[in-house]
Amino acid sequence: MIIIKNEREIEAMKEACRISAGALKLAGEAVEPGVTTAEIDKLAYEYIKSQGAEPNFLGYGGFPGTACISINNEVIHGIPGHRKIKNGDIVSIDLGAKIGGYNGDNAATFAAGDVSEEAKRLMEATEQSLYEGIKKAVAGNRIGDISYAVQQYVEARGYSVVREYVGHGVGASLHEEPEVPNFGRPSHGPRLIPGMTLAIEPMVNLGGPEVKVLKDKWTVVTRDGLLSAHFEHSVLITSDGPVILTQP
Ligand code: MG
Repeated sequence: MIIIKNEREIEAMKEACRISAGALKLAGEAVEPGVTTAEIDKLAYEYIKSQGAEPNFLGYGGFPGTACISINNEVIHGIPGHRKIKNGDIVSIDLGAKIGGYNGDNAATFAAGDVSEEAKRLMEATEQSLYEGIKKAVAGNRIGDISYAVQQYVEARGYSVVREYVGHGVGASLHEEPEVPNFGRPSHGPRLIPGMTLAIEPMVNLGGPEVKVLKDKWTVVTRDGLLSAHFEHSVLITSDGPVILTQP
């Protein structure tokens, strides 16, 4: 069932998303060569707690961190730890905060030091594909319109979208219906209604779309070992168009 949020719920979502965006901004600013992913995770944890919120990824399905931190060929769900970020790495951070019973969720890929032109272009295309999807997050459209817009933008540039993991509704639960795939057909899927809140999150691979999960049972990597990038916003559908709730 897709939950349509009322005014009170939307206000709670706004607060959760504001804190989520603040934590992601802070974490992203900390990305530089020599820093460990655990240090970044700690910054995000402390910021979220300082705002009176809870890190909603921590303990989710047993996940041990506040943030998923995924480097280079890692797509999503990287576990923070002792790994030091190196010059030229691209670092995807995905995290959220819960407050007042509601969740925010957002992600972005950050460059550590001097990254290759190839990596820069991938990151820019992934971020822009998110905005192409958001442009279609309009009441009366369908989920497939968002999916198609993301996929078209990505594939026109020779990249591929991950199929096994998708965006989702977000609200009192971190993951709600509907699924928001980054591939699909226009005019298909559930219709968008004001009050829906969606986490739209393209995961874009430089090479093929295939991914696998590492032995740690969390980290998702590209099968071909090539780079991947990830951008995500929590978005509210309104009668006046999409509102990005996780804008810092
Ligand atoms: Mg998400």
